[in-house]
Amino acid sequence: MWKNIRILILLLVLAGVALHAWLDRHATQSWEQTLWVGIYPLNGDGTAAAQQYVAALTPRDFTDIEEFFAREAQRYGVRLSQPIHIELYPQVQELPPPLDPHASMLGIAWWSLKLRWYAAHASSVPGRAPPRIRMFVLYHDPSTLDHAPDSHGLQKGLIGVVHVFAARSMHGSNNIVIAHELLHTLGASDKYNPADGAPLFPSGYADRERQPRYPQEDAEVMAGRRALSAQEWEMPSSLRRVVIGPETALEIRWTH
Ligand SMILES: [Zn+2]
Repeated sequence: MWKNIRILILLLVLAGVALHAWLDRHATQSWEQTLWVGIYPLNGDGTAAAQQYVAALTPRDFTDIEEFFAREAQRYGVRLSQPIHIELYPQVQELPPPLDPHASMLGIAWWSLKLRWYAAHASSVPGRAPPRIRMFVLYHDPSTLDHAPDSHGLQKGLIGVVHVFAARSMHGSNNIVIAHELLHTLGASDKYNPADGAPLFPSGYADRERQPRYPQEDAEVMAGRRALSAQEWEMPSSLRRVVIGPETALEIRWTH
């Protein structure tokens, strides 16, 4: 009797988890309503420079991400005029749990559970409606670090942890990184070679038909860089020079 009840409870919990994942996926891939994305800025390195930068952020600093999604969605015939809305939330003090770059599968699973727990309490702001997708954006003083730590976007849990630079000159490229991780939460996959960062051909190229092929004028967002030649690539300075390629559009269900 007790054994049966325990099994029933376990099955109900599993059904609840599966239902929740299905609802999240439906809400983020149906493109019937504007998707609310919350940006939670953090001081990533504890420096005064990063703090000053975070304190000066305004919602206008993120409108180019909204415009990027609107422009690209229109190209794919998505009827929604504003696919995503970005809401800027107050600075979060507690940093998200770090992921050990050498973590095992089990280590990554444990980290993702801790991250969900962190996101649940770090993102609640009294009097503010919670967003569907939570992006924790950690700003680092570029003078203390030349290479930002790896960023992550999780489709399960709809959480992003993004490392960017606290510098006005990097504002445009920061927003490319945020858009890239946001697209991971929506189901998009990387389109670059993890060994060296080279955009994959053709899915990571903005203009695969271009003759001659190099240099590419724009970047595909999930490659993050435009190829200048077969051996060189660079990140554009703003989302105006970035597109969503057909493979990414299919992954996020803009096309079928
Ligand atoms: Zn990625």
